[in-house]
Amino acid sequence: MVPVMTRLGFIGLGIMGRGMAANLINDGHDLTVWNRTSAKADGLGANVVATAREVGPASDIVFICVSDTPDVEAVVFGDFGVIHGMTEGDILVDHSTISPGATKAFAAQAAELGVSWLDAPVSGGSEGAEKGTLAVMVGGDSAALETARPFMESFSKSIVHVGDEPGSGQMVKAVNQVLVSLHALAASEALLLAQGAGLDLEKTIAAIENGAAGSWMLSNRGPQMIKRDWEPGFTIDLQQKDIRLILEAADDLGVPVPGVSLVFQLYRGLQAQGLGSDGNHALVKSLEELAGVRLGD
Ligand code: NAP
Repeated sequence: MVPVMTRLGFIGLGIMGRGMAANLINDGHDLTVWNRTSAKADGLGANVVATAREVGPASDIVFICVSDTPDVEAVVFGDFGVIHGMTEGDILVDHSTISPGATKAFAAQAAELGVSWLDAPVSGGSEGAEKGTLAVMVGGDSAALETARPFMESFSKSIVHVGDEPGSGQMVKAVNQVLVSLHALAASEALLLAQGAGLDLEKTIAAIENGAAGSWMLSNRGPQMIKRDWEPGFTIDLQQKDIRLILEAADDLGVPVPGVSLVFQLYRGLQAQGLGSDGNHALVKSLEELAGVRLGD
């Protein structure tokens, strides 16, 4: 019997989605895509359709990577949402970082139509999406994951099933973002201390990054901080969305997160200065204000 090809769709070609989609295409998969701003599909080599809904009939598995909870709701369940074009047995893989609670409700709504929902937020930054080295934390039905896994491997180096319960992937992502927020603060404070001491900042990072104090943030965003390059791999606005998800979960659970709360307020100050579309490593700017010391001076 000739094996039936699995047809793939992708919705959301932003900083992350475009790289992930490109890796699927590079691995030889045909891909049907939709992005609100259609120009972002230019040059991708995908089959571009005019609405999210049209991705459904062309796909057995649909990957999504959009900004926030209401955006996932809009592209899936809105008037032109993809769910209206999907059929029983199809799989929807949501790579966006959104609310775990809303995810449960979305998964239940999809299940009524026989569509499996995997919540599969990613970590590894724009570099990870581009190089195909993301870490994916997946909640939902394990059989659906095994069907989707070979395709997800095009853009991932690690795919871990963290629970059958929808939303468990999103909860693990909140945990991930506790560390990302605090690593951004740690790298900012450390580099400002080095600056204050008059050290060579590049050599300081090189000396530290392979020891116990190393972090992805220090190695990947530290050099950007030193060059005062605030180009976003991940914007402050989206980072704040993630911190809000952490604060809501922590509040529900009664778990204190004092470090994350501090970072939220520092980013809030940068947003108030109109810097929400800077990369999240621009957190260092808020400490420069406090210290009266600037990186690179
Ligand atoms: P981005 O570059 O701002 O892209 C956002 C994407 O969502 C764009 O394709 C945008 O369409 C689409 N979108 C937003 N609202 C929409 C709506 N209401 N209807 C239709 N499309 C909508 O953001 P990103 O950095 O790729 O992040 C995407 C997701 O991945 C977020 O949940 C983020 O938290 C998560 N994430 C990001 C990173 C990172 O390092 N960047 C890392 C891990 C996880 P347009 O092009 O039309 O604006």
